[in-house]
Amino acid sequence: MQKLTIATSNPHKVEEIAAVLGQIGIACVPLARTDIPEPDENGATFEENARIKAIAYAKALGVTVLADDSGLEVDALGGAPGVHSARYAGIGATRAERDAANNAKLLRELAGVPHGRRTARFVCVLCVARPDGSIAAEARGHFEGWIGEAPRGSNGFGYDPLLVLDDGRTSAELTSAEKNARSHRGNALRELVKLL
Ligand code: IMP
Repeated sequence: MQKLTIATSNPHKVEEIAAVLGQIGIACVPLARTDIPEPDENGATFEENARIKAIAYAKALGVTVLADDSGLEVDALGGAPGVHSARYAGIGATRAERDAANNAKLLRELAGVPHGRRTARFVCVLCVARPDGSIAAEARGHFEGWIGEAPRGSNGFGYDPLLVLDDGRTSAELTSAEKNARSHRGNALRELVKLL
């Protein structure tokens, strides 16, 4: 079985990536070392940030790594929170607290925006970098929906409880297999596998 290190501290991302890559015989290794400083994600696009993370961790670890940069684009907000999705509200000590604060801020920003203008999508860019800093492959995936009036569902993470899909469920109401079959991350992974 081939092995690939996943350069993220987000256990939800590792779980989703491992489920898809496991199906094609690639074992995902989470980041074991905590002494590597997190690189500054100061890119203007998901592509730039995915590259920054992949190259930094591949060089520091001396192995080929896969990095994920992802977020939510809301059309009525001009594409925000976009690359700032993880720290949109800017508060919260834990991941769960930050997610709750981000979701609450998003609902405040969209207060009064009618259903037809609440379209949004998750975007995921994956980048595989080699230890010498060269890029082996990159892929992008989207997951279209709209922002609901209140959070629903307890699966997944981040903005999953707010992205309503065409069947009326939120992304947090999907099983992990259902989410992976149609999500931005699942789509980007299937594209990446074709390229590798
Ligand atoms: P990153 O770690 O800088 O890529 O931040 C990604 C942020 O985007 C997460 O903290 C979530 O807020 C959001 N996000 C990315 N992917 C998902 C997803 O699959 N579901 C819900 N939120 C997501």
